[in-house]
Formats: sequence, structure tokens, C-alpha cells
Amino acid sequence: MPHSLPELPYAYNALEPHYDEQTLHLHHDLHHKSYVDGLNKAEAGLAAAREKEDFSLIKHWSREAAFHGSGHILHSLFWENMAPASASGQPGTELSKQINRDFSSFASFKSQFTAAAAAVEGSGWTLLCWNPSFAKLEILQAEKHQNLTQWGVIPLLVIDVWEHAYYLKYQNKRAAFIAAWWNIVNWETVNQRFLKAIA
Ligand code: MN
Repeated sequence: MPHSLPELPYAYNALEPHYDEQTLHLHHDLHHKSYVDGLNKAEAGLAAAREKEDFSLIKHWSREAAFHGSGHILHSLFWENMAPASASGQPGTELSKQINRDFSSFASFKSQFTAAAAAVEGSGWTLLCWNPSFAKLEILQAEKHQNLTQWGVIPLLVIDVWEHAYYLKYQNKRAAFIAAWWNIVNWETVNQRFLKAIA
């Protein structure tokens, strides 16, 4: 079954004024769609290579699958990680306890996440993850999303800081975008993902 672009769980203008309608259209309908198309193309390329037993382009298709597959997964999480400000909610009890355990306080977690997102070089992501190997929450930066560096971690909350994610409204003011984004975090989905990760 080929991969398909997921529907947004809210209207295109539902995240205004923090995330504008036009950017959401471009980001979801064009950028995310191109990852889905690229992933399907890479998987078809790999299937054809197996069929023909011709692996001369294996590096190309493996890279394409990693780049577009990671883009598809991360963007799908990113949409789910947001909600209209009125429905934004708060970290649940279990997640709050874990945040306090691993980052001292919610304020310290938010400071570190914000600083990590502001400092990602080039085009990348910042992620709050559950690391089952260490049984702890971690904040990671992915400077190239095809190169996630801690295998096995489970992303809980992600922010896209590629310029296409915010440039139309926020131009070069990434910090302003990050500050506004905190208003539209969907803590319900983060809570659910956390409980599933530690189960
Ligand atoms: Mn993006």
C-alpha cells in the first residue's frame, strides 16, 4: 500500500494567529505531500531493484527512503502535536512527573527545548523523546532529519524549524515562531504518546 498524506485534524485557519493559514496550506499540501510522494517513489525503486536483482542504485534509493520517510513521519507527528490554542491543554500528571524528574521543572524543560530549537543549524527539528534504553525523556536536535542519532528513541513532541515552516509569517524571526508555537502544542497527543511509550 502506498503512503498517503494524512488529513489535518483541524481546519487550516484553526491555529491562527500563531500558525497562519497560508503557511499551513503550503507546508501540509505541498511540502509534506512531496515527502509522501518521494517515499512512495523510493519504495517503488527498491521493489524494482529487488525484482531485477539490480542494486546499482541502492545508495540512492536508501537515502531517498530515509529522507522522505523521516520527513513523512516527522510531519505527521508535527500536525498531531498542534491544536487550536483554546484546546492546547497541559502535560498530564505522569508526563509532568517525568518532566520534573528529567529536567527539574517544566520551566527548565521549556527553556532547554526553546534553546535547542533556536540553535538547530540549517534545516532541522527539535524533538522531545522517550528513550527506553535509559528510561528518560530527552531533547534532541536533528540537523538533518534523515540522520536521527539515537536509535530506538520514541518522539513525543516535535517542532519543525526548517524555514518553510515559519518564514512566510515570521521571516527570519525563528524565536518568535517558537514562542508562538508553545501556545498551540497539543498536550493531549503528547500525553498519550508518552503513556504508550512507557507502557
Ligand atoms: Mn516541514
